[in-house]
Amino acid sequence: MKTFLRLAGLTRPFAWWMLLAALIGFATIGSGIGLLMTSAWLISRASLLPPISALQFGIVGVRVFGASRGVLRYAERLISHDTTFKILTRLRLWFYDAIEPLAPARLASFKSADLLKRITDDIQSLENIYSRVLAPPLTAMLVTALMLYLVGVWSPLAALGVLACQLLAGIGVPLITVRAAKGTARGIMALQAEQQLLAVDMVQGLGELHVFGMLGTHLDRMHEAEEKKLDLQKKSAFFEGLQESLCGLAMNAAVIWILWSMLPMVKIGTVSGITLTAVIFGVIASFEAFLPLTGSMQHLEADIRAGERLFEIIDAEAEVKAPDHPAPLPAGHDIEVNDLSFTYPGSTRPAIEGLSFIVPQGGRTAIVGPSGAGKSTITSLLVRFWNPTGGSICVGGSNITALDPEGVRRRIAVVSQRTYLFGQSIRDNLLLAAPGAGDQELKAALSAAGIANLHDRLDDWAGQHGMNLSGGERQRLAIARMILQDAPIIVLDEATANLDAVTEQAVLETIDKVSAGKTLLAITHRLQHMERFDRIVVLNEGKAVEEGCHKELLTLNGFYAGMWRLQHETML
Ligand code: ATP
Repeated sequence: MKTFLRLAGLTRPFAWWMLLAALIGFATIGSGIGLLMTSAWLISRASLLPPISALQFGIVGVRVFGASRGVLRYAERLISHDTTFKILTRLRLWFYDAIEPLAPARLASFKSADLLKRITDDIQSLENIYSRVLAPPLTAMLVTALMLYLVGVWSPLAALGVLACQLLAGIGVPLITVRAAKGTARGIMALQAEQQLLAVDMVQGLGELHVFGMLGTHLDRMHEAEEKKLDLQKKSAFFEGLQESLCGLAMNAAVIWILWSMLPMVKIGTVSGITLTAVIFGVIASFEAFLPLTGSMQHLEADIRAGERLFEIIDAEAEVKAPDHPAPLPAGHDIEVNDLSFTYPGSTRPAIEGLSFIVPQGGRTAIVGPSGAGKSTITSLLVRFWNPTGGSICVGGSNITALDPEGVRRRIAVVSQRTYLFGQSIRDNLLLAAPGAGDQELKAALSAAGIANLHDRLDDWAGQHGMNLSGGERQRLAIARMILQDAPIIVLDEATANLDAVTEQAVLETIDKVSAGKTLLAITHRLQHMERFDRIVVLNEGKAVEEGCHKELLTLNGFYAGMWRLQHETML
């Protein structure tokens, strides 16, 4: 109920449009009732062969109701679709606004295919909230009131019977069928999410599935999910059919009731046979309003599930919030890490513990350590993906938690091992770092990054995840982005880990050139070209175990020297 009220609340700005569409929907069914009643009256009356002038009322009525029914149906569809699209637009904007602050920390706990389904299908399914969930009950209520009046004018007893049958068709039948089909809509949605997940895994991991001979098993899982979904869809279709039949039964019961209660009135002459025929046809037409009600309840179940899935994301507390009154961004660009600690949610072991070091403005510091030592976590904390659990990181003397996170990120250019390239042109991927840059600037950045060969390929598609480029080109494209961003602080997170020795040497020379005068923090587990750094912080299990320049650390003959020897002996 709470989810439904929250969803309904989101449609509140369109309440008047929704009401108008529902009223026109009611007028459309009202015209249908009028059309059948006047037609019945006309045919019955005409069978008695009266003069043509006596039939004028019926002829005009049939024409008016016949024409108005079409026009009103068109107007109702127009307004309700327009309102639905406005609601969808609002829902999408609301959802995007709400998830933006959650990225990436909070969204990391959701599988990407599942997240995609929530963003696309779940929001799309909420388009039903107005047209199939809110509007039909309103229309049905108005039609019930109309029929209570129209039949009640002739016979209150008949009207009460019709009311009972309408309540049965409008409330009883949907309750029975929805109860019997309970969980079907949720089950279908869950299976659709699973299918999407399996499909994404299949496309992205096709190579691995082939290599390990698991393609058949994966396809079996996809078939199994499809079959389960088909079973549920059949169940859902069965109950839809059952509902239509039960509605038909309720309608026939109403007709029999009218005949039973009004035929004696016809006999004694208080009601004419023609009127009885018109009333019966009017009642038959009125049941059109009750047919969508089971669908309404089924959609309600699906919408509530979709709403719950969306609210599950929306309600996640953002890990990093911009302070209400952010301090002005400092002029300096030194980095000071003080007694820094961080534990990932759900983890018992701290990833960083009591870490302190300084990178002076324009200085070059490396953080080295074995895999899992906590090196990349420092980058995530620096660019404000997470908040430290203890201690602080200051840039230019200001604690970054007091600054606007966006402002901090603009001052830090990160080149990581996993450069994400969008499935767009090379130009678009470069413009991400400098939206206003012209071709000359882009080409200058490509040249500086050592990939002048891409000058003529600016409009080429980079491929899915940059697959149309070589590993070295992708990495250099990330450096070109860094050059374009022109941030005073550069963070290299295993930036050359995927490159061969010759390319790595060339890329490092490029980085040295373009980072001259900037504050550089390099994170690596490979101890190559370490003489380039003024200072090296050696990290192990989240703690700094040694610190000094390359020579000092070798002389110390401790953890660093051990790592260095191991790596260099292995390479010999
Ligand atoms: P590598 O050199 O292999 O990239 P690293 O030194 O950069 O390793 P981190 O990625 O910082 O190490 O990870 C430090 C610790 O935190 C590891 O034990 C890792 O398992 C854990 N960790 C990293 N990311 C998460 C996460 N999102 N949730 C929970 N634990 C995490």
